[in-house]
Amino acid sequence: MMHPFALAGLLMLPADTIPVPDAYRAALLNDTRSRSGAPGGSYWQQRVAYDIRTRLIPEENRVTGSEAIVYQNQSPDTLREIVLNLAQNVFAPGSPRNRTAPITGGFDVTRIVVQGRAVPLQRAAGSVGTVLSVPLTTPLLPRASAVVEIDWGFLVPEGTFRMGREASEVFYLAQWYPQVATYDDLRGWVRDPYLGDGEFYLDYGDFTVEVTVPGGWLVSASGVLENADEVLTADAVSRMRSLERGRVTHIVTRRDRDEGRATAPAGTDGTLTWRFAAHNVRDFAWGASSRYVWDGTVAEYPADDGTTARSAIYTFYRPDKPNWGRSAEFARHAIETHSSWYPYPYPQMTVNEGVIGGGMEYPMITIIGGGRTPLALYGVISHELAHMWWPMVAGSDERSHAWMDEGLASFAEDLATPLLFPEEDAGLSTMDRYLRVAGTDRETESMRPADLYGPFGNRGIASYQKPATVFRALRAILGPAVFDGALRAYLRRWAFKHPTPLDLFWTFEDVSGRDLDWYFQPWMYTTRVLDQGIGQVTQGDGAVTVVVEDRGEIPMPVIVEVRTDTGARSRAMADVREWRSGAMAIRLEVSGAVTEVVLDPERRFPDVNRADNRWSPDAR
Ligand SMILES: [Zn+2]
Repeated sequence: MMHPFALAGLLMLPADTIPVPDAYRAALLNDTRSRSGAPGGSYWQQRVAYDIRTRLIPEENRVTGSEAIVYQNQSPDTLREIVLNLAQNVFAPGSPRNRTAPITGGFDVTRIVVQGRAVPLQRAAGSVGTVLSVPLTTPLLPRASAVVEIDWGFLVPEGTFRMGREASEVFYLAQWYPQVATYDDLRGWVRDPYLGDGEFYLDYGDFTVEVTVPGGWLVSASGVLENADEVLTADAVSRMRSLERGRVTHIVTRRDRDEGRATAPAGTDGTLTWRFAAHNVRDFAWGASSRYVWDGTVAEYPADDGTTARSAIYTFYRPDKPNWGRSAEFARHAIETHSSWYPYPYPQMTVNEGVIGGGMEYPMITIIGGGRTPLALYGVISHELAHMWWPMVAGSDERSHAWMDEGLASFAEDLATPLLFPEEDAGLSTMDRYLRVAGTDRETESMRPADLYGPFGNRGIASYQKPATVFRALRAILGPAVFDGALRAYLRRWAFKHPTPLDLFWTFEDVSGRDLDWYFQPWMYTTRVLDQGIGQVTQGDGAVTVVVEDRGEIPMPVIVEVRTDTGARSRAMADVREWRSGAMAIRLEVSGAVTEVVLDPERRFPDVNRADNRWSPDAR
């Protein structure tokens, strides 16, 4: 039962508005962004195409590569330089970084040719760090293309953040090829260095990649394997082509390995070359191992046209790793569940085991390491696969706004987990992790570049648990139908584009029809905390009046439940607009004597002090 409630005062809400950066104001004037949160009519972004040949030499822990990049200038600007990301240089001596890293020397670049002209290599060699600007001798006009050719090699670091190797038997190659930096409508060239904490932000494009490895090594990658007949046995090819949703197929088994039939026979030089193609992706990663087995199944989910879409699910793991026999089932569940936000847009999804302690995602592929229980394995698979939506579909800048991908991936993971593990209230666990540091020195506001979150592991709370909690609470305020509609609209509007926080906030306002500055500003831009408490409770005339006090710093709606000795429960939800004075009197009609009053009984909101959220007459 909902009842009107009396107001205890007349002060206005704090006028917290979301700040609009200058570059965003310019984008509104240029019509590349819009006040509705949708892309503007003049939105543009750059396009890249990579053709890469690479070789893994496991006995040297070395990767070499040669690439040709076609860079299409779709901006209205004339470009006078091209900016390259040399991310592997985070492992070079002297490179700035915010994580400890093994020193491998980084990229050994042996050739750069831009627009047909060789770039002096001392330029590349002299660059300390991960960003290299190459002046263009011929300016790149709007709608023109430039070709960049680069040859390189590097030593693969022992298992580290996001990529590396485990001994010389499992390799995961990310940040492994020189890339063209993003050029966008807000910042032009994005020159943020790769320091270790911030992940990546790249333009969308197409990749063809040939990976040469020793015979017997399995290779998995972003994209589709185009020459299965050349690298796999006939048995494995037929198993790979007969995957079904209802079962897990062992495409390459332990027995195949034991019998030396994990792959087709190697060529005369002892190698095989695996060819992959990936379309409309923002990066490309791959993995290889001499010990992997390969499982497969199929994910099915509704497509936009009402038909059933299908994607292959592949998992690669060493067979002695506990619970990995369930990895394909878990990955299928995650892809199907997250597809309710937006149909999974790629033809396959691959999960690799090993190398790093946690997980790290790239388009169509993720690495997941560490010994894990089934719940922990599902949780990290579900999280990494949620990244296929944030940021692989909604292509936000992970270095500037890590919460846009980590927060939403954690939020989606938490919604998916109880569907497979019903006893696990993952959203509540996430909220409790935020609450343990809320308002302390170990908290940093979420709206801060990922590399600047500060010490104490603040990045974890600020970009994962807190924003996931903020979205979970907003879903309780707006209701699942409105919230889910807004999040789906955000993905629709920004699929394969570059959204920023304002595009997300304003889409939520546009779809819900509500001003949400009061919500996003304090939660995302500050470390203020929520603390509602029960003040006076008075009963009479078949009604009870509950005074709720705002003892924290963030205005939020109030959910109050009154329980009586008849067993009845009455509930009211007071809109945030009703807050005026720091206290709100909520009147509910009840029958019987009040035995208990509870604020937010299901714990939808992150209240830092729950002790004052419960009242009973005995405690008086
Ligand atoms: Zn993540």
